[in-house]
Amino acid sequence: MRPIAARIHLSAFRHNLAVVRRHAPKSRVWAVVKADAYGHGLKRAVRALDAEGLALLELEGALALRAAGERRPMLLLEGFFSARELPAFAEHDLTPVVHSLDQVSMLEKARLDSRLGVYLKANTGMNRLGLNPAEFRGALARLQACRSVAGVTLMTHFADTEGGTRMRDQCVIFDAASAGSRLPRSLANSAAILRCPEAHGDWVRPGIMLYGCSPFADASAESLGLKPAMTLVSEIIAVRELAAGDSVGYGWTFTAPAPMRIGVVACGYADGYPRHAPTGTPIVVAGKRTRTVGRVSMDMLFVDLSGIANASVGSNVILWGEHVSADEVAAAAGTVSYELLCGLGGRVPVSEI
Ligand SMILES: *Cc1c(COP(=O)(O)O)cnc(C)c1O
Repeated sequence: MRPIAARIHLSAFRHNLAVVRRHAPKSRVWAVVKADAYGHGLKRAVRALDAEGLALLELEGALALRAAGERRPMLLLEGFFSARELPAFAEHDLTPVVHSLDQVSMLEKARLDSRLGVYLKANTGMNRLGLNPAEFRGALARLQACRSVAGVTLMTHFADTEGGTRMRDQCVIFDAASAGSRLPRSLANSAAILRCPEAHGDWVRPGIMLYGCSPFADASAESLGLKPAMTLVSEIIAVRELAAGDSVGYGWTFTAPAPMRIGVVACGYADGYPRHAPTGTPIVVAGKRTRTVGRVSMDMLFVDLSGIANASVGSNVILWGEHVSADEVAAAAGTVSYELLCGLGGRVPVSEI
């Protein structure tokens, strides 16, 4: 069997959720499990995450969880896409995010068997989803008068990924839009949970930190006390000796400056390893940190075995997870750990430890 595997550490979910609770002790937690729990497997993550609620995008995923007996509140982060979906929200007690006046109108026209709790989303600068401050109060009044709506929670989402003053600016806009209302609030993603206590509100919405990665470019997950929930491992399947001047891989982008040993690892971009990871991307071979060399191909990549004399065919390789974080690999490849985790290749076997 091809030696690549993703190992999911269930204990890391518990540990990382405890970190969320330490930072936001007064808030309830929506565990964000969109994108198949950031590539970790929806059902497995939901089982391991003892949060008060679950937040995701896909109605199908929410219905599958309900069918499997999941009873916790579920927040659908893009709400409903057509009025036809509303009866399913009512029947299965799902909470939609309402981010547009179109959705408000659909709720007003709906005739549902039970009333829905809804989240009304304000656009406070991200300019993706949400009502602008000028529309927000009017939409809130309409929802409060709507017979299909049981209760409203106010929410927004931060564009700032550094947790600095711009996040506080968005809080000020949110406070102004919702002034006078005593309704429950939900603002904080991982970055705000870690760096913006005034944004914690009644419900926080951690995603990436539950999976043990950092939302920040300037702070490692380890420094934030987080543990990686996924370790992607494989093995060396060939070893070669290069002479000075020999080049490696497609496009010969790496040339050995002196005689050296390299290893070929059974992992490529079809497994979810970023093709843009350049020579020098950190990787662990036989317990030692080293670097990739040359271009990542679909099924394989190359590692520098200089200084790892005991490395041979069959040696363990850690692509990301313990000892080399997905954040580091992502940074080298010009992306973020979010993309690596949720881009794990469908052909990679996943197991729990
Ligand atoms: C994805 C998402 C989150 C979680 O964000 P992280 O940065 O992963 O913590 C929270 N809220 C909304 C609306 C989201 O779409």
